[in-house]
Amino acid sequence: MENGANPCFDVTIIGGGPTGLFAAFYAGMRGLKTKVIEAAPYLGGKLPYYSEKFLYDIGGIAAITAGNLIKELEAQARTFEPVIVLSQLIEHMERLADGTFRLTSNIGEVHSTRTVVIAIGGGTLVSKKIELPNAKQFEGHHLHYAAENVEQFRDKRVLISGGGDSAVDWAIALEPIAKSVGIVHRRSEFRAHEGNVTKMRNASVRVMTSSQLKEIHGDNERIKHVTIEHLETEDTFVCDMDEILVFHGAKPDLGGIKKWGLEIERDRIIVDSWMQTSILGIFAAGDVVEYPGKLPGLIAGGFTEGPAAINRVKAFLEPNKEVKPIWSTDHAELSSIHSKS
Ligand SMILES: Cc1cc2nc3c(=O)[nH]c(=O)nc-3n(C[C@H](O)[C@H](O)[C@H](O)COP(=O)(O)OP(=O)(O)OC[C@H]3O[C@@H](n4cnc5c(N)ncnc54)[C@H](O)[C@@H]3O)c2cc1C
Repeated sequence: MENGANPCFDVTIIGGGPTGLFAAFYAGMRGLKTKVIEAAPYLGGKLPYYSEKFLYDIGGIAAITAGNLIKELEAQARTFEPVIVLSQLIEHMERLADGTFRLTSNIGEVHSTRTVVIAIGGGTLVSKKIELPNAKQFEGHHLHYAAENVEQFRDKRVLISGGGDSAVDWAIALEPIAKSVGIVHRRSEFRAHEGNVTKMRNASVRVMTSSQLKEIHGDNERIKHVTIEHLETEDTFVCDMDEILVFHGAKPDLGGIKKWGLEIERDRIIVDSWMQTSILGIFAAGDVVEYPGKLPGLIAGGFTEGPAAINRVKAFLEPNKEVKPIWSTDHAELSSIHSKS
């Protein structure tokens, strides 16, 4: 159903992680009117959670940080100028009599589309919140559950709470940039990669094990001091602080999509070898899918499944045509775009 205020897209990709972004490029290459909807205020899916780490298993790229991979993926995804919507979590789906879909987000915005590709990873990652009565007032300002870039912490006093890989990785990444970095962990041992724990201990990071963040003191959204408690001795001390990063784990949740009537097993959407789900016209790709032989948790998997889903979208939309795979080397528009740049 076409309507000026709410145009109907050929394909709407839910999720702006690596799978969704590459699928968006591929959909543009196949001439599809494409929209991407991402729940977070930024693109990249899980990559911002480890933006300073190097990836060595992206085909054709010997080494790239996750942060730089996001930049490359985003630039490539924008080649054919898809509509990209941020900060909207898709919750509801309705199929209209004409076969198109109406997707509704958490803020009530409606998106019309002829097909859907679900590329939502494990769903939204719901971070385990720190249990302190006034934590909410600092959240989104100086208390963070994910860090997008190191620059926001330059010359700041930073406290990291947690004992896993994310906590230790961020302690190492911020140590050369921040004014000071402390890490507080309830247990005596870290659960992170051993080599990184040694690296962190050898750096100027103040390590406080068997301890917890007991209180945050500040004005409005600004943090001034924190109280740290040693869990065995119950001794406490107060220190000046600007920023707090909390990594107490995150639980993925498929949210409203669980209620769409898709075949789902153990929080994974079941697809066939064409990435078709149990609802005709709805496809899925990346970390969220399950099929025989699926390689779980690999970016390379999403890079194959995204194009497979888009090729099938094309065939679904043009049932009377034979849809053949295409090569970018033969794509006239792509060569003219890149010859200009
Ligand atoms: C620490 C760490 C290191 C890793 N290292 C590697 C590595 O070296 N090599 C490798 O191949 N893989 C690695 N991975 C795995 C890799 O990050 C994932 O396989 C990849 O991110 C999956 O991409 P995706 O696009 O399918 O899902 P995601 O990256 O999870 O993206 C899904 C996106 O969908 C959004 N979303 C969810 N629900 C909705 C909704 N209802 N509406 C709108 N948007 C929604 C989410 O906000 C998210 O942005 C690593 C993962 C972690 C955590």
